Parts: sequence; C-alpha cells; structure tokens
Amino acid sequence: MSVLVVIECANGEVKKSSLEAATYGSKVAQQMGTTATAVAIGDISEENLKHLGAQGIKKVLFDNDARLKNFVNLAYVKVIAAAAQKESSKVIILSNTNIGSAIGSRLAVRLSASLATNVVSLPEISGNTFKVKRGVYSGKAFADVNLTADVKIIAVKKNTIEVGHEAGEATVENFSASLTDADVAVAPKEVIQQTGDILLPEADIVVSGGRGLKGPENWHLVEDLAKALGAATACSKPVADVDWRPHHEHVGQTGITVSPNLYIAIGISGAIQHLAGVNSSKVIVVINKDPEAPFFKAADYGIVGDAFEVVPKLIEAAKNL
Ligand code: FAD
Repeated sequence: MSVLVVIECANGEVKKSSLEAATYGSKVAQQMGTTATAVAIGDISEENLKHLGAQGIKKVLFDNDARLKNFVNLAYVKVIAAAAQKESSKVIILSNTNIGSAIGSRLAVRLSASLATNVVSLPEISGNTFKVKRGVYSGKAFADVNLTADVKIIAVKKNTIEVGHEAGEATVENFSASLTDADVAVAPKEVIQQTGDILLPEADIVVSGGRGLKGPENWHLVEDLAKALGAATACSKPVADVDWRPHHEHVGQTGITVSPNLYIAIGISGAIQHLAGVNSSKVIVVINKDPEAPFFKAADYGIVGDAFEVVPKLIEAAKNL
C-alpha cells in the first residue's frame, strides 16, 4: 500500500514542482511506514525517471504512450487511477499546478476520495484522518482540513518543501492503463511554446514588468535582467491585454500563479488581482517611482525610483555576480 506521487514532465525533464511532490510523498510514506511510488506519463526518458530515487521514490510506473505526450485530462486520470489500483495506494500526492488542479477534482470523484489543494504542511496522521494546512483566500490565510475518506489526495503548493537529495535510484517499470480511443478523443491540437527557456510556473526567479515600462520597446530591461539572473519573465495583465507581451506571461488572479524564491516587479502598481498570483513568492522586490504604490506593502525590499535609471544598474550588477 504505497503512497502514489504523480509526476509532471516538461521538455523531457521532471518539473521542479514534481520533485517537491516526490519529496513530500516520500516523507508521508515514512510517516505511514510504507514506500513512495511515482506514476509518470508522457515525454520523459527512463533515465531521468530513475533520478527520482534522490527524492526517496522507490519505483516509477511509466506510461510512455505517444498519445499522452501532451496533457490529456481524461486519459491522465485513467492512468493515475489504474496506477493507484495496482499499488493499492490510498494516498495520492499531486503538485498544485494547473495540471494538478485539473486532475485532482476528477480523480477525487472517480476514487470517492477526500481532496485538499494548495497544501503547505505534512499531514498530522491520526487513525484514518489526515489533518493538513492549506492556503486560502489567495494565500492570505490558512485553513486546517481533515481528510477522512478512505482515499486521500493532497496537492502540494509549489515551494512548500525543499527538494530531497538522497543517494539511490528508482526502478522504472513500464505501465499501461489500456486506453481506448475515446479516452484520448479530447486532446490538444497544438501546444504553444512559451518564450524563454525557463518555465514561468516553475521558475526560481521571476522578473516581471508592468505598465510603468511604457511600451514593448522597453522590454529589453526585463529580458536583460532576467537573463543575467537566470530568471523567467512575466508581466501584469494590462501589459498582456495590449499585446506588449504574450498572455501566457500574465500573472495574477486571472493569469498564472507563481511561487518563486525571488519575484522582481518593475513598474507594477501591486493591485490586489496581481498580488493574488505572486504573494506566495519567498522574497518580493519592487521597483516603482511612486512611493505610495500598494506593491511596497507586500514587498520585502523596495526601490523608489525610475525603472529606466534603476534597472540598467541592476543588470550591470547582476552580470558581475
Ligand atoms: P498600473 O496600475 O498602470 O501601474 C503602473 C505602475 O508603474 C504605477 O504604480 C506607477 O507608479 C509605476 N511607474 C510608472 N512609471 C514608472 C517608471 N518610470 N519607473 C518605475 N515605476 C513606474 N492584473 C494583473 O496584473 N493580473 C491579473 O491577473 C489581474 N486580474 C484582474 C481581474 C479582474 C477581475 C480585474 C478587475 C482586474 C485584474 N487585473 C489584473 C488588473 C489590476 O486590477 C490592475 O489594473 C493591474 O494589475 C495594473 O497593472 P500595472 O501595475 O502594470 O499598471
């Protein structure tokens, strides 16, 4: 009866959020006196999956059906449910990503499971009850939730747990859930690649620009700083609305949620809808020429100044790091 961890892959690599989920799953397995097994689907090599041993995963069930290279909700849920059945897993760990959210609710219905999303703590286990803490109200508060169903699904918030680095490799076992054509009938026709090498939702550092940058011709400031720091680029909603930047870079309530270790906001006012997507960042640095900009209240460090003067200096400094 192992703990089952769902692994997401991108560009042939295990996503950082899944390394965190794997570490979390191994710790839960230890609490329960059992082992952690992972299920991986899609575009990744067996070699890369073996490295999950470093996060305490003993075995990986790998479905490399070519039809599942990109995320297909129904089919992924079927594969995960089949893996849970094979392993008699009563505890399933997901990452709190867009894919994790899409899978979680569907899987919970299918397995009559208790589901907790946005989880920020290891469970307190008492008999058949798992008590976990989850972020609510866009990360402004926490709620304790009891998971009491026989099967429990926990979606772990990004950047909640340090990725484990143990010695050892996982064994990889081919696995198939015998999918039918109907399972893959609704599949993505095209996947639009994001700009830059670093996936925004997974990034450790994010450099983000707002309307204060005046126009797309000034975006080299964001890009150059991001390049010097090895960061992903992001933007506020109005910037994407007027096509200065693509919509997949827009963070906030109606865009992507990010939880990097460092979020640098340049010329962004800090409206509540923007903060909803970034306020779980570990460190927030705000550059704004208005000392009354609301973002300063959420910032760990603030620079009151003109972005066109401050950012080139930061780029030079970052290049010399
Ligand atoms: P502005 O509010 O125009 O702020 C620009 C800032 O740049 C100002 O603070 C100004 O002082 C500063 N500035 C100007 N010049 C300079 C300079 N030279 N140097 C330094 N600083 C300078 N917004 C999001 O971002 N994400 C969302 O998901 C989102 N969802 C929304 C959902 C709803 C339902 C609604 C109603 C709104 C949503 N918004 C969202 C919009 C949000 O309310 C704000 O309007 C938006 O975040 C403002 O973007 P901004 O900070 O880039 O622009």
